Amino acid sequence: MRASTTNGRAVPGDRPERGPTPWIEPADLRVGILGGTFDPIHYGHLVIAEQVREALRLDRVLFVPAAVPPHKLDEEVTPAADRAAMVELAIAGNSAFAMSEIELCRAGPSYTVDTLRELVDEAARQGVARVLYFILSAEALAGLGGWHEPADLLRLTRLAVVPRPGAPLPDAAQLAAMLPDGASADRVECIETVPLAHSASDVRDRAAQGRSIRYLVPPAVEAYIRNHRLYRSDNPRRTA
Ligand code: ATP
Repeated sequence: MRASTTNGRAVPGDRPERGPTPWIEPADLRVGILGGTFDPIHYGHLVIAEQVREALRLDRVLFVPAAVPPHKLDEEVTPAADRAAMVELAIAGNSAFAMSEIELCRAGPSYTVDTLRELVDEAARQGVARVLYFILSAEALAGLGGWHEPADLLRLTRLAVVPRPGAPLPDAAQLAAMLPDGASADRVECIETVPLAHSASDVRDRAAQGRSIRYLVPPAVEAYIRNHRLYRSDNPRRTA
């Protein structure tokens, strides 16, 4: 029997012949990956996931909370278990959505390129031709050059870029300037999703001030934040 882990993939008592649950089911051939800190998840995330799923006819959108967000190493972040729990609550009820603990099971900074390598290797093991789309906003795309191994990232996945208020979709010239050297714009789909100005930092600020976050996050996430006293000054955020 495989060793017990905290990732829910192999636990004591599992039937030995069953093997671990894959990160992505073999039948899912067109898959969107929405990586983020999700501190907390909000309707801005959910709307882009749903509208990219529809536009690209995805079988699945995988929400991937970062354990140690590489661009937030100097910041305090809510423990990963709380962030993941909120993602689970938010996506419950959408059968095309799933959460993956793939980054929670890895030590060190949660580099997207490492996650994509694992997922591409898994597809090879499964013997399926899977197409991955990493979903990110135009704002995040503008910073892609600063990510870990961006050229490799573009080799492993296509991108689904969505607008974010203040960061409209790039035109062809802007897109070319944002991509790593040698990366083809053919690997990028720009998708006009409904712009929502929600941000996790705004939700945290409001919660910290005791203000309403209703309609910014799903009701179950709102209740989780309230019940766990997240983002309150008397409950400082800790590094994941
Ligand atoms: P923070 O405010 O703490 O920086 P965030 O709201 O940007 O957080 P992340 O978890 O860092 O949330 O975002 C994950 C991905 O979702 C990133 O690509 C981000 O740009 C995108 N995203 C987040 N909010 C929106 C939104 N309202 N519209 C479009 N894209 C969004």
